[in-house]
Amino acid sequence: MTRHTVLALFVPLLITPHLLGQCPAATGINWPQGATVYYSINSNISGTELTELQSAINLWNTADMTKNNSGVTYVQADSNHSATWTIGNGTTNTDVGASTTLNHGGDGIVTSATTVIGINTLFSSGGNIYDPAKPGYGTIFLKVGLHEMGHMVSEDDVKGSNQYAGQPL
Ligand SMILES: [Zn+2]
Repeated sequence: MTRHTVLALFVPLLITPHLLGQCPAATGINWPQGATVYYSINSNISGTELTELQSAINLWNTADMTKNNSGVTYVQADSNHSATWTIGNGTTNTDVGASTTLNHGGDGIVTSATTVIGINTLFSSGGNIYDPAKPGYGTIFLKVGLHEMGHMVSEDDVKGSNQYAGQPL
């Protein structure tokens, strides 16, 4: 079993200029094609944060599967189906908004995943990554959810010479 952790690094959204349109690289690590993944959201996520994460999952599930050819759908775990993807608030490293650890075999097929949202994590420059006073906060957990789901189907963070302040966008 191999562990692979992908980190979501968040930078302020209003920094200009920065280059748009750079596509992420493939990690080759993903859920099986067409998998139904059972998920569980920790009770330490509630309110708007929970609503937005569920919206992200619904958006993923209702996207046009002929275009999103992962075919992966997410279903809430129940007494007959234990969760293989768990999401919770927790502690992440400085500057890391959220991270997802993917457990997988040598073939890159993910068998389980854990997403941690660093709800109180700070930027190294100071200030909360998730700051309600900052632009973009209104939908930040929707975006975080979609971002981490992208990692679970092989999408890497954007990294390149034009990354902002040495951090992937
Ligand atoms: Zn990321």
